[in-house]
Amino acid sequence: MREVICIVCPKGCHLRIEETANGDYNVSGASCERGIEYGINEVTNPVRVLTSTVKVEGGSLVRCPVRTDGSIPKSKIFECMEEINNVTAKAPVTVGDVLIEDIAGTGIALIATRSVS
Ligand code: SF4
Repeated sequence: MREVICIVCPKGCHLRIEETANGDYNVSGASCERGIEYGINEVTNPVRVLTSTVKVEGGSLVRCPVRTDGSIPKSKIFECMEEINNVTAKAPVTVGDVLIEDIAGTGIALIATRSVS
């Protein structure tokens, strides 16, 4: 059995996920369907939205905040961070600009969350 806190909404339900004999999962403690889905994903394919910053050249700030435009597998986070650390954006950067189109082969883009002039 695994116990995790659901992070889908601020309520933070305490979930207990048990694998059944036929390979399915029972999730208890969730107040809604989204929590059940989150609990199952946490034990089968945990994913996260990754937030970080990238270097900016010629701008009013030296780094620009960024996030992935969707959830990526937790197992890919270090690979994603290596790509992020190797990227330098050229100012101006506009919020929503795609700085990496397919980060670490996940099919997910890395986008700017702040404009840098
Ligand atoms: S189970 Fe539902 S209500 Fe509880 S934290 Fe997750 S999303 Fe929110």
